[in-house]
Amino acid sequence: MEESASYNPREVAVQQLVDAASRIDVSDSIVEKLKHPKRILQVSIPTRMDDDSFQVFTGYRVQHNTERGPAKGGIRYHPQVTMDEVVALAMWMTWKCAVVNIPYGGAKGGVICNPKEMSLSELERMTRRLTSELIGFIGPDIDIPAPDVYTNPQVMAWIVDTYSMNKGYLIPAVVTGKPVEIGGSLGRNEATGRGCAFVSREALKTQGMDINGATVAVQGFGNAGSVAAKVLEEMGAKIIAVSDSRGGIYCEAGLDVGAAIEHKADTGAVSGLEGCDEITNEELLALECDVLVPAALENAITADNADAVNAKIVAEAANGPTTPEAQAILDDKGVFVVPDILANAGGVTVSYFEWVQGSQMFFWTEDEVNSRLETIMVNSYYGVRAEAQRGNWNMRDAAFNVAVGRVAKAVELRGIYP
Ligand code: NAD
Repeated sequence: MEESASYNPREVAVQQLVDAASRIDVSDSIVEKLKHPKRILQVSIPTRMDDDSFQVFTGYRVQHNTERGPAKGGIRYHPQVTMDEVVALAMWMTWKCAVVNIPYGGAKGGVICNPKEMSLSELERMTRRLTSELIGFIGPDIDIPAPDVYTNPQVMAWIVDTYSMNKGYLIPAVVTGKPVEIGGSLGRNEATGRGCAFVSREALKTQGMDINGATVAVQGFGNAGSVAAKVLEEMGAKIIAVSDSRGGIYCEAGLDVGAAIEHKADTGAVSGLEGCDEITNEELLALECDVLVPAALENAITADNADAVNAKIVAEAANGPTTPEAQAILDDKGVFVVPDILANAGGVTVSYFEWVQGSQMFFWTEDEVNSRLETIMVNSYYGVRAEAQRGNWNMRDAAFNVAVGRVAKAVELRGIYP
C-alpha cells in the first residue's frame, strides 16, 4: 500500500487494532503494547554499482510482534517504501498468522530502491549487504523473511547463501519462498490462490450455493488470481471473466482457465483469448456472479464502484482490495466479504510448512502440502465464521477479533518481562 498525505497505513493499522480490541474487550495496556512494534531496524546498504560507483540504499526491517512465535513477513524492494508502511504491513502479518493460527508473529521489510533500474548483479550485491546488516536480527528462530513486491525466489536464494556463509553451514529455514532446489516447498507458488479457492468453496457452501456451476470473476490474473481461477475451475465452478492490467475477457458459458494462462504466457495479456468478449476492469467488477476474486492491487473496490458490485461473495486474494467505505457499502448490499487476512493466508501458511520442512530437513510431497493447507484454511474459515455469528459482525471484523484475541491472550499469559 502506498502512503499519501491523507492516508497513513500505520494509522489505519493502529485504528483497526483499537476497533477490534473494543469489540472483544482487550485491556488498554495490552492494546498499548500491540500498537508498538517490538523492534524496528533501519540499515544503510552501501552497494557497488556496475559502473564502480557506490549508492547507499536505506532498508527497514520491522518486527511487530513475537509473542506466538518468530516474526514472519516479506521484504519488498520499491522506490516508495516508507517506515510507516513497513510498520503497518508488519502488524497485518501478525494478524494474518494469528487468524490461521500458525506459530508466528508479524514482520516486514523494505528497501527504498528501484529494482527495475538495477542490474541482476547490483541487486545481488545489495541483497547480500542487506543480509549481512540483518544477520543478528533475522534467523529461523527470530525472524524469517520471504518475497514481497519485486523480490522473488532468487533474492531469497542470495539471502540463504549469505546467511549460511556467515554461519558456516546451510540454513534454509532463514527465509521462505526460496527455490525448491535449495529447500523451498512444493506447492508454495500456488498456495495463495489455492488457499483462496478453499475459502471461496466454503463460503459458497455456507451461503447456500453449490460450487458446481457457481460463476466466478477474477480481477488480476497473476500468481494469486490465475491459480485461484484454475483451482476453482477444477472444483466445478465456471470462470466467467478474468482480467489483468491490460483489460479483461468475459465468456458467459465459462472460459478455459488453462487456455487463458497459456494465452497470457504467449502474448503477455489475457485479452484476445478466442471465444471471449473484451471487457474493462470496471465492467468485470460489476458483473453478476457468485464469487468475485479481487487479486490485483489494493483499493480496487472503493466508495465509487462498490455499489456496482453484483457478486454474492467477494474473496480477497489481494491485500487491501476493499476500502473501509466500500466494505460498508458491500455490507449494506448483503455482499459476503471474505477478508484478505483470511482469504490470502494460504501463502504464509505454506511458508510455515516450508520453514518446518527446512528446519527438519524432511520434505513433504505436494499432496501432503495441499491437504495440510486445506485443513488449515477450512478450519480458519469456520473459526472466523463462528466469531462473525457470535456477535453479528462481518467476516472482516470477525477475522480481526479472532486474530487480535489470540495475540492478546498470548501477551496476557506470558506477562510483561521482567
Ligand atoms: P502478480 O504480479 O503475479 O499479479 C498481479 C496481477 O494483477 C497481474 O496479472 C497484473 O496484470 C494484474 N493487475 C495489475 N493492475 C491491475 C488492474 N488495475 N486491473 C486488473 N488487473 C491488474 O501478483 P500476485 O503475487 O498474484 O499478487 C496479487 C495480490 O495478491 C497482491 O495484492 C498481493 O499482495 C496479494 N498476495 C499475494 C500473495 C502471493 O503469495 N503471491 C500472498 C498474499 C497476498
